[in-house]
Amino acid sequence: MGKYIKVEGARVHNLKDIDVEIPRNKLTVITGLSGSGKSSLAFDTIYAEGQRRYIETFSAYARQFLGNLERPDVDKITGLSPVISIEQKTTNKNPRSTVGTVTEIYDFLRLLFARAGIAYSYNTGEKMVQYTTEQIIKIISEQYKNKKVIIKAPVIRSRKGHYRELFVNIRKKGYLQAQIDGKITELTPGLKLDRYKIHNIEIVIDKLIINDKNTERITNSVNTGLKEGKGVITVTEYETKNTRYFSKNLMCPSTGLSYDIPEPNSFSFNSPKGACPKCKGLGTISKTDLDKVIPDLTLSIKNGAIKPIGKDDNSLLFKQIDAILRASGLDLKTPVNKIPKDIFDKILYGSNESIVIDNASLGIKSKIELDYDGILYFLERHTKYSGSESKRITNNYFTDEICPVCEGKRLKKNPCGLNLRKKVSMNLLNLIYRNFILF
Ligand SMILES: [Zn+2]
Repeated sequence: MGKYIKVEGARVHNLKDIDVEIPRNKLTVITGLSGSGKSSLAFDTIYAEGQRRYIETFSAYARQFLGNLERPDVDKITGLSPVISIEQKTTNKNPRSTVGTVTEIYDFLRLLFARAGIAYSYNTGEKMVQYTTEQIIKIISEQYKNKKVIIKAPVIRSRKGHYRELFVNIRKKGYLQAQIDGKITELTPGLKLDRYKIHNIEIVIDKLIINDKNTERITNSVNTGLKEGKGVITVTEYETKNTRYFSKNLMCPSTGLSYDIPEPNSFSFNSPKGACPKCKGLGTISKTDLDKVIPDLTLSIKNGAIKPIGKDDNSLLFKQIDAILRASGLDLKTPVNKIPKDIFDKILYGSNESIVIDNASLGIKSKIELDYDGILYFLERHTKYSGSESKRITNNYFTDEICPVCEGKRLKKNPCGLNLRKKVSMNLLNLIYRNFILF
């Protein structure tokens, strides 16, 4: 494999016996007048030869269905790797289209990762483990022999809420205790938690001593636990308080982090199953560009310093901004660069203080709770919910930034943790490549 794709003596269509060297791993553009042979070189010579060589690697049996491809009129091409070609299309500007999706190679890769991938924990880098029910029972029976344990089913992990209905439901099913934020608690009627705090809740399925006489009870409790915990149970040793996770899903053995069993859609940034929740699979997010919103800092807000809302039109929005400014001895006529940062932040990001508004037109002074969301929220709301026209206008105030959550990779965190088994991947890649060409 050289550094170049070398074409010697190309004579397809109107190419005049030309020699070219095209650098590999670079973006190369072929330009020229209409009819000068750009497509003849790219599609009818280089791509055609790549296709032909690829099909030649098939068995004679497979080739009889494909027919033999004609050799393009060229003396020699070296340095050629497998080729793909994408049609020239000018209309498709969908930001969700990539070379991978347009050529459908991405579909095969998703399948490959879902079927042959090995999952690694993004917490610890350890290989994720997965047990069958029988394995879980066997491990518990051996590891905790003659020890007292608590078998629990995790139902809430690191989520906010008061969970009153959940506790009612758990009680209805006949469970009397749950481990709430690490503490075993009786499920008394009316029990609820601080809704603004993050909680961990595990139903206590059984407390028992593990021994041979208990085999049936262990089996029943593990099965019940796996059902309630959607495939996950925890086992805590009574004396040491050591806890271990067991999961029928993919799970990190030390932290209990669990992944869903990967399926092709887990790797699709066009599916909610795989897309990064922050950027919805686009890889970029829109951020307000303050320099565009306030291009001239010497202007006052009255005179249109905040470009998207224009000059003072006596609307509620301006009255609210005026109230914020007046509370600090400023007003709408103050140039933006003379407004202290903390005051201006309120104008941008909103405020819920109670402020006195002097309503001259009504002749009254009233103290109101300022329910003001800020200019940036105003802009975002207009982009999200308005028609395309206002979207076009407000779009000017946004810039695209690489998504901070997925770093532009478009996928949710968990499937990104999957790596490939090297040996399998080579064979499968070959298989996929064949399928790709065949269909
Ligand atoms: Zn993202």
